Amino acid sequence: MDRHDFQGVGMTSQRTRDRLTSRLEASGVRHARVLEVIANTPRHLFLDEALAHRAYEDTALPIGFGQTLSQPYIVARMTELLLVTAEKLGNVLEIGTGSGYQTAVLAQFAERVCSVERIKPLQDKAKQRLRKLGLHNVHFQHSDGGLGWQDQAPFDGILSAAAPRDVPQVLLEQLAPGGVLVIPVGADTQYLTVITRNAEENTFHHQRLEAVRFVPLLAGVTR
Ligand code: SAH
Repeated sequence: MDRHDFQGVGMTSQRTRDRLTSRLEASGVRHARVLEVIANTPRHLFLDEALAHRAYEDTALPIGFGQTLSQPYIVARMTELLLVTAEKLGNVLEIGTGSGYQTAVLAQFAERVCSVERIKPLQDKAKQRLRKLGLHNVHFQHSDGGLGWQDQAPFDGILSAAAPRDVPQVLLEQLAPGGVLVIPVGADTQYLTVITRNAEENTFHHQRLEAVRFVPLLAGVTR
């Protein structure tokens, strides 16, 4: 992405963004490319104008329809987990397009991103934003991500921005050998969970990481 095209001023300037990445680094994000992509992706364009001045705070922010734009730390952490765990990031599935911010970050690492969202107007807006940013390797579908995206599978990586109570079996089935699912799981307390599909045998390795807070993965779609 050409950083000069989307540079902001004041609270959205490069300096403010660099402060955010220093903070992420202090919180434990180590991957240099991830930090660089976060610094260069204009998060303020994924928010309503009234909230744009808060875009580079490390917090989740409302995007309407009762949903939130993920906290930058979480976006960085999940992207980093995918990068260091997956064998490659050719074809990636994202569940919960939301504003499209995480999608934009992923699109700068994966060859192609397939992104599903159950709330149509959110996804329509996200599509426009990504087009404006010149990120053309993203395919969108308005559907229930709890079912994955069978026609586009297998995936080298799957990242879910919404939390199911239990991991949907169908998502594991849509992982390529060596593929990785990064997903928050749980009802009252959710844990960031990383599940790897073994490249040789058909087994899965589960890893439960820190407690997190995500919106729930809901069934069905809304117009
Ligand atoms: N990463 C997004 C986060 C959006 S919040 C961003 O930074 O903007 C999580 C999103 O998951 C919401 O938009 C919500 O509508 C969506 N979601 C919840 N359940 C879903 C499901 N079953 N299928 C697809 N999307 C779902």
